[in-house]
Amino acid sequence: MGDAFDEECDYLFKCVLIGDSGVGKSNLLSRFSKDEFRLDSKPTIGVEIAYRKIKIKHKLIKAQIWGTAGQERFRAITSSYYRGALGAMLVFDITRRATFVSLRKWLHELREFGNEDLVVILVGSKTDLEQSREVEKEEGKVYAETEGLCFMETSAFKNLNVEEAFLEMITKIHDITSQKTL
Ligand code: GDP
Repeated sequence: MGDAFDEECDYLFKCVLIGDSGVGKSNLLSRFSKDEFRLDSKPTIGVEIAYRKIKIKHKLIKAQIWGTAGQERFRAITSSYYRGALGAMLVFDITRRATFVSLRKWLHELREFGNEDLVVILVGSKTDLEQSREVEKEEGKVYAETEGLCFMETSAFKNLNVEEAFLEMITKIHDITSQKTL
């Protein structure tokens, strides 16, 4: 990666993607970093890291986003995955209730390994598959409120709300970080 560019950036923010296998993390990552969607995406071996530079409130931010793409069950690297992360996108698939039920387990892991003021955004993915919906939007919203998280529904396939979800997470991190450095 061209680290010479780093000097131009005001901040480097590490964020992680978590959630069950197949919920669409890898496609959220490629949509946000490269504006690509992969219909037959195959699980990546190991950790996938993507970058994107964005301007928020006159600051140039380099977002470094980590995904595990299908490796969830084999991830023996939990503490290093979370180390230094300022944001987490916790993803479930609105067409598979089991991935919503798993959120509790993921939040438990987040709270065990994540930074104390980690910004967490809950994402219900695949809204283009409305006819197969198993989790109502209201349920996601109520769950997020109960756990003190932001919430958004997205479709990486139709490119709906993906940019907005990442921007919401990164803006919140920016606000917390800039308050600390005041
Ligand atoms: P991951 O294992 O969580 O990284 O999930 P992937 O990004 O690899 O996606 C798993 C499967 O869901 C793949 O077949 C994707 O093409 C599909 N997928 C991901 N996002 C969407 C979406 O927004 N809409 C639809 N219809 N399919 C999606």
